[in-house]
Amino acid sequence: MQRFGNAMQTGARRERGLTFWRVMPRVCQLAAAVDVSFFFLFYFLGSPILAWINVASVAMYTAAYYAIKSRQNRLAITLVWIEVVVHSALGTIMIGWDSGFHYYLLMFVPILCVSSVRPRTVVILILLLWGYYVGLDILMWFIEPVQPIPSAGLFGVHVFNLSVVFAMFSYLSFYYMSVVVSAQRKLRKLATIDSLTELFNRRHASDMADNEIARFRRVGHPVAFMLLDVDHFKQINDQYGHETGDIILAEIGKIVPAQLRTQDIAARWGGEEFLVILPDTGIDSALASAERIRVALCDHDWEAVTGEQVKVTVSVGVSELGEGDDRGSVISRADRALYRGKAGGRNRVETEVVKEAAAQQR
Ligand code: GH3
Ligand code: MG
Ligand code: MG
Repeated sequence: MQRFGNAMQTGARRERGLTFWRVMPRVCQLAAAVDVSFFFLFYFLGSPILAWINVASVAMYTAAYYAIKSRQNRLAITLVWIEVVVHSALGTIMIGWDSGFHYYLLMFVPILCVSSVRPRTVVILILLLWGYYVGLDILMWFIEPVQPIPSAGLFGVHVFNLSVVFAMFSYLSFYYMSVVVSAQRKLRKLATIDSLTELFNRRHASDMADNEIARFRRVGHPVAFMLLDVDHFKQINDQYGHETGDIILAEIGKIVPAQLRTQDIAARWGGEEFLVILPDTGIDSALASAERIRVALCDHDWEAVTGEQVKVTVSVGVSELGEGDDRGSVISRADRALYRGKAGGRNRVETEVVKEAAAQQR
């Protein structure tokens, strides 16, 4: 369990890392674009040193961008760190704390948290960043800006920097939100869907069955259950191979839902066994549905799908939910009917009504 937990943590960190590297090229492009505008801004504000610092910055972001593209991630992240740390300090020292260049340092806090770096290293780096940030603040209390610019220009730079940081934080937040939502969707699918047949898996089908049973107790609408089992599937596997067996199961996963209504629930119950839950359906309609599925599977052009002259049939057991039933008892009844179908020669639909079951128990 512990090892499983560790593997999950490492997996999550790797996943976060992948996301991080997907976001970084865009961050480099944005930052380079910002620095190009800074070049012109400082050039016209009469601060050529700062203007040329921005040319160096654009070069560094371009190098970082291509380093990521050629998978030299370590080089890319080193370039970005150096650029931001040096640029924010130089900008602050040259024209003052009010320039707002230090805000860019704050960008590293969320970026570090979503990177694939170990949590302990993240804490250390954030503490170092904090020390650097506070150190720069204290320094600017004691020294005057080296190359001050007119106050209107300073105000413009301040608002511009603040706006860029706002935009970058918003972009990162929205991006990560969309990543989280899509990861949740993927997880939900993994937890509820059987990968081979794309039908619901057994666990989810059990939950859905319990929901339908609760609804039956509340409103009394009929619910029917259908258990399908592929006939002589072991023989099919032995004769045509396991891969052909898998292709058949996947195809059944398409044929069965095609014969059902949208509210019906089809699931892979076990290896070559399928459960169908039919809400608002009495036994007669359920039997008709089962027969429709049996014929559809029996008449299907299996050669077109598998390339083999294979005959696929199913036996189906059907039961209707009765008073005092629970999930186990209603599915057991379908299972007993299925067994009768097998014993009676297969490729057939059977049912076991509640009264028969009660008589059998006596
Ligand atoms: P019956 O008509 O009585 O149901 O006979 P059967 O051969 O279908 O039943 P049995 O329970 O003897 O064998 C079921 C076979 O289904 C054995 C197993 O290898 C195969 N099976 C279970 N899951 C899968 C799967 O995911 N893929 C493939 N290819 N075969 C599977
Ligand atoms: Mg079988
Ligand atoms: Mg079976």
